[in-house]
Amino acid sequence: MGQQPAEIYLDNAATTCVCEPAVLAAVHAMQNAYGNPMSLHKKGLEAARLVTQAKWEAAQLLSCAEATLFFTSGATESNNMAILGVAAARRRQGNKIVTTTIEHKSIKACLDSLKQQGLEIVTIAPTQDGCFDPQHFADAVDERTILVSAMYVNNETGLILPIQEIGKAVKRKNPKVLFHVDAVQAFLKLPIKLRNAPIDLLSASGHKAHAPKGIGLLYVRPGVRLHPLLYGGNQQNQIHPGTESIPLIAAFSAAIHHIKPHMQKHLAHFDGLKQHLVDAVAEIPEITLNSNRHCAPYIVSLSVECIRSEVLLHFLEQHGIYVSSASACSSGAKSHVLRAMGLSDDRVDTALRISFCPQTTMQQLDCLVTTIKLGMDSLVQTTR
Ligand code: PMP
Repeated sequence: MGQQPAEIYLDNAATTCVCEPAVLAAVHAMQNAYGNPMSLHKKGLEAARLVTQAKWEAAQLLSCAEATLFFTSGATESNNMAILGVAAARRRQGNKIVTTTIEHKSIKACLDSLKQQGLEIVTIAPTQDGCFDPQHFADAVDERTILVSAMYVNNETGLILPIQEIGKAVKRKNPKVLFHVDAVQAFLKLPIKLRNAPIDLLSASGHKAHAPKGIGLLYVRPGVRLHPLLYGGNQQNQIHPGTESIPLIAAFSAAIHHIKPHMQKHLAHFDGLKQHLVDAVAEIPEITLNSNRHCAPYIVSLSVECIRSEVLLHFLEQHGIYVSSASACSSGAKSHVLRAMGLSDDRVDTALRISFCPQTTMQQLDCLVTTIKLGMDSLVQTTR
């Protein structure tokens, strides 16, 4: 048998590989800390200690108190808890929520459901230069507004939203308004400091940051009232009842501990990778970048003229290279994000998302570009 080419995984915005310390922590917890953290005996205490340690680790990273953090099954659950929980708790205070046109489906679908129940949902669009103006959010906020929700980094283009400025602007207009941030694509990549930040709720997910799938977190600033989605035992202040998954929590904690000291170095590495990719595709007139200067360095969206995303994605797959069309969560559907960014249907239909991890190399990106060129030579005639 011929040798298989090495696989090149460039779909880290969809999910990441689990880092070794997280694997070991999960196995160790399964084999040793199998007690129920609510149990009063030694085995319970051992398990509870891992939860406490994980909250400390996440609290150090986010610069917040441990008691403000709740473990969830992932960011879809965190986002649902934040949006639906606040809407239920603040029903009497108002009926308007402000958000953006580029949120993840786990926000959008919650808001669609609240809209059906009669709430007013206002969506803010990006400006001409492809970013967001905090003043637009403030303009949309009035005395009936209970919540503003905006993502930190967009999962399809890497666009970084000015969340600090958005938070400040909306709270200046109405100090009672709560501000939720979906920080999934920024967590463990960009610095997030919650102490003194104008942020009341924040969602993150383990599997986008080298922890396993099935674990996420929600930050809830002290004093913010939230109705739970689930009712049950006394775990996690009853905001998220149910026996905690100790192996997943231990793995999440280990991933944070492992990656946190290297975040700055990783960002510099991503900057170099992005520049390398941008320079390489600049020489190919059929390729247009969809990510702009406001975007994070670890997600690059580009469109390859005349080749539908799925066709090129599978061509690359045959060569051992894994990328995404727009986003993995809405595969098959036309990207609402790229449309909201003002891209033509052709650009949307031909978009590829390339997303890096700390192990990504320039050689891998060279191989990607060479293979895209190969695809352009062999596929254009068949798909025109
Ligand atoms: N928000 C954003 C911005 C995301 O990219 C994702 C994952 N694609 C989610 C929320 C949902 O996260 P999870 O897969 O942990 O439910």
